[in-house]
Amino acid sequence: MNNPSDSCFICKNCGEQYELDQPIWRCKCGGLLDIRFHPQFILDHIQSRRPNLWRYREAIALDDSAEPVTFGEGFTPLLPVEIDKRGVMVKQDHLFPSGSYKDRGAAILISQVKALGIQRVVEDSSGNAGCAIAAYCARAHIQSEIYVPADTSPGKLAQIQRYGAELHLIPGSREDTSRAVMAAAEKSYYASHSWNPFFFQGTKTFAYEVCEQLGWRSPDCLVLPAGNGTLLLGAALGFKELFEAQVIDKIPRIYAVQAAACAPLADAADQGLSRIPEIEKKETIAEGIAIAEPVRGVEILQAVQSSGGSFIRVEETEIKKALIEMCLQGFYIEPTAAAAIAGVKKALATIPEDDLIVSVFTGHGLKATDKMLKL
Ligand SMILES: *Cc1c(COP(=O)(O)O)cnc(C)c1O
Ligand SMILES: [Zn+2]
Repeated sequence: MNNPSDSCFICKNCGEQYELDQPIWRCKCGGLLDIRFHPQFILDHIQSRRPNLWRYREAIALDDSAEPVTFGEGFTPLLPVEIDKRGVMVKQDHLFPSGSYKDRGAAILISQVKALGIQRVVEDSSGNAGCAIAAYCARAHIQSEIYVPADTSPGKLAQIQRYGAELHLIPGSREDTSRAVMAAAEKSYYASHSWNPFFFQGTKTFAYEVCEQLGWRSPDCLVLPAGNGTLLLGAALGFKELFEAQVIDKIPRIYAVQAAACAPLADAADQGLSRIPEIEKKETIAEGIAIAEPVRGVEILQAVQSSGGSFIRVEETEIKKALIEMCLQGFYIEPTAAAAIAGVKKALATIPEDDLIVSVFTGHGLKATDKMLKL
């Protein structure tokens, strides 16, 4: 039974609980928050609604009184794509309004922000999360300040600015950008895609859609990119909820793809660590997953390992090859999105022939014209 009064934030570190209407994004102890919530799946209702992610409204931890901030997003096509002669079902999440799957998280998080009456948020990003938060804030008439590394793709910078966000270009690494936003987050609400658990209430709809589009069943495995793991952890949460609600009878194995140039999670797995090692990050064309210090790194390790999946490293040449191959089939995706497909190509060797494989195009190629011209 769904008992709304039972819903709360819960600290992963100390177990402290908070009401969901608190404007917080982490625990007083500094720990990461999760949301405790009992999702409901009434399949007849869901199927009778419009094809967007709000069809799963009772499975999302927003108060009934919260009004969706929406562009009608979600329920992206799940298309068969030929990858190295194998049929792989690929979710077309580059087709979201701001051009990446980050809109899943931004739609739910900014709906919550609006419901709380917050008028200004800050966010840091390698680009696409900033675009998504800026877009939904524009829709909701909320002011956003977006912090990004100075070398972010110009297409993403233009998008953030045109949405009316205040853009802060931070010299140095992605980690320097994270440090810069933390100071701003002391004063404004931090609409963080990696810290804020409402973001994952949005990205989990990836799992719901895949499951419904396959006729309410689970694929055998998922191949997903992993930087901060905002899609991966959302998908893992979504499939877990569907399993617990007995909508599906198994949970897919998750293969997590990292650029070899920045692979702290793959390193942790290889070395049998339960924490994330410090790494020396190199240049990668996959800017969206170049995350050296993933906030929820330990959670990603656990999600992948408990699913029976593994981590895959892809080299720069493999990413570019996968990108060109997808474009030649008519799928115009950005380089970071191609990293996941390069991961599919590598994983195929170890995946049984008749497994149903699901992967994703995470971001649109039009965001990265500069890089596409230089391939
Ligand atoms: C954000 C993003 C990813 C990966 O996301 P993480 O949350 O860092 O794991 C992959 N592809 C694109 C295009 C993205 O924008
Ligand atoms: Zn705590």
